[in-house]
Amino acid sequence: MDPSPQTFDQLRNLLRSLDGGAYRRYQTLAGKCFDAANYQIRFVHIQGSAGAFPASVIQLFLPNAFLELPDAALANEARKLATADYLVRALTDAINQYTRPGRGVQGSGSFQAKAFPPQVVERNLVRFKAAGTHMACRISLPGSADNRILGRHAEQMLCVELSAMVFAIQAAVADHRALTSHCNTVEDMLVLQKRLAQKGLVAFVADGAVLPRQSGLSQRPLEKSAVRFKAPDELAVQMTLPHAGRVRGLGITQGITVIIGGGFHGKSTLLKALAKSVYPHIPGDGRHQVASNALSVYVPAEPGRAVTGVDISGFMGRLPGNAKPEFFNTQNASGSTSQAAAIVEAVTAGARLLLIDEDDSASNFLFRDQQMRKLVKDEPITPLLDRVRDLYKQFEVSTLIVSGGSSAYLGVADQVIAMNNYLPQAVTERVQRLHLTTPPSPERTMQLQDRRQVLPDNFNPTFHNRRLGKSVAVRIKPLRLRETVLEYGNQQLDLTQLLALVDGHQVSAIGYALLLAARQFNDKALSPSHLSRSIDQLVETGGLASLASGMVVPVFLARPRQLELAGAINRLRNLKVKTSVPTAK
Ligand code: ADP
Ligand code: MG
Repeated sequence: MDPSPQTFDQLRNLLRSLDGGAYRRYQTLAGKCFDAANYQIRFVHIQGSAGAFPASVIQLFLPNAFLELPDAALANEARKLATADYLVRALTDAINQYTRPGRGVQGSGSFQAKAFPPQVVERNLVRFKAAGTHMACRISLPGSADNRILGRHAEQMLCVELSAMVFAIQAAVADHRALTSHCNTVEDMLVLQKRLAQKGLVAFVADGAVLPRQSGLSQRPLEKSAVRFKAPDELAVQMTLPHAGRVRGLGITQGITVIIGGGFHGKSTLLKALAKSVYPHIPGDGRHQVASNALSVYVPAEPGRAVTGVDISGFMGRLPGNAKPEFFNTQNASGSTSQAAAIVEAVTAGARLLLIDEDDSASNFLFRDQQMRKLVKDEPITPLLDRVRDLYKQFEVSTLIVSGGSSAYLGVADQVIAMNNYLPQAVTERVQRLHLTTPPSPERTMQLQDRRQVLPDNFNPTFHNRRLGKSVAVRIKPLRLRETVLEYGNQQLDLTQLLALVDGHQVSAIGYALLLAARQFNDKALSPSHLSRSIDQLVETGGLASLASGMVVPVFLARPRQLELAGAINRLRNLKVKTSVPTAK
């Protein structure tokens, strides 16, 4: 930290002296550090105006002697991840409990309490150092309608409320039971996830799990009326976890698993829970002992999206017009082409489990029945049904598909699970006794290589405001009210269908990853899959900081998976690629 921090009395006096001054005079705080005996704060970034978004950033330093984190909280990477997560949630709780929002105009004069999703992801908000813990916090410094400093309010916030916040964080750490539970839960889940493959599984749902949410908009578990998950004996698997010990639950095996069952019986709820369970969940979430393969991807149809140069010839034959399925380009994909592209993109980027729900799919992409096969001869689509076995045999990609309306997939299923009143039942044997037909094998085997090369002039982050005739060199931020849409330069990149993006900070990180791609990989002619892997490697070794290196203004980031990074690159509307082999004709 700053070698010569000032005292909090000096901060108090400074804020008093600034009172009533022009808002920009808050800049005198920039870079300054103040010592409050127990902790220190440093002003890392000061906003330009009361309405600025994002706002100012302060860094708290909580020395070991004050915070007293137990050694066990930092004993390994999983526990550090959990402890950092615990601390940022404690900070949000403290802001909500001990601070008064909106002391100034336009929402200024507020500590910004970020709402965290129930998933635990790597973030750059907390750093553990030998002497203590650093935590970043956003604060909007209070300003008046005539653009003046509200110094008394700032003093109240920084010298009174902040102190209450810091002690609340200390108290949260002193609650060893909660902290330990947080760490154990995260560590258990990550161990569980690693052990899935050893047991031949792609997913596990523990007995007692609560999968449904309070509403379609909520992330909170449904409480009273929730039916807790319970695996039938035929499908039950035992897992031994470091802290919870032996846990029984449903094991979903590698290969093809079909979930059937009547409408409203919990099929989609199960699938969505698995899509999110690539990450650990916090205690109390209900999904904290649910794990799916870390490379699972939910692949819905996404009509209207852009597709650039993807080889969907495994699923699509001759298309109308001049569209080439080997090098498929569109600014407006159909349901079937979007879902085909999403699968090819996911698999080439490394996906190991595809999660597919008939609710969100193009039905003509999923299957075609016998009558239609006879009736319509020049159908360009080879449905997923015909490819799903190859995906597993040739590429080791498992598929978990919810299909309540058709028996088509039952013939290719390794495992069939029926959801009945929210509970799974084993029906594989019953289905196998039916001797259902398997679909014909397609004539051509599928090619799944990303042969595209990203051209050098991609990922331009410059924002031109044509109306005002102004430009901003770098504009990267999620839309304020719709965080799954990334503003990158002049583009709006809609990432809503990437279900494993659970936080706006991940969306920001994707933006900075694209910027890094422009700066470091522009002339390398990598494929989108390779590019996303290269960036992910940098993050793996250098941490999230490697995404924001050289940025003057600190950015708050959470780590996206490499799969979502690839998903974002693939969704760019102006992505320019060439293919490394001329398309054979
Ligand atoms: P399906 O896909 O089979 O039609 P959904 O998964 O969409 O059904 O679930 C239907 C409704 O039941 C939803 O409102 C969901 O929140 C609720 N639900 C799902 N699982 C449970 C459960 N275990 N306990 C109580 N309600 C549940
Ligand atoms: Mg459904």
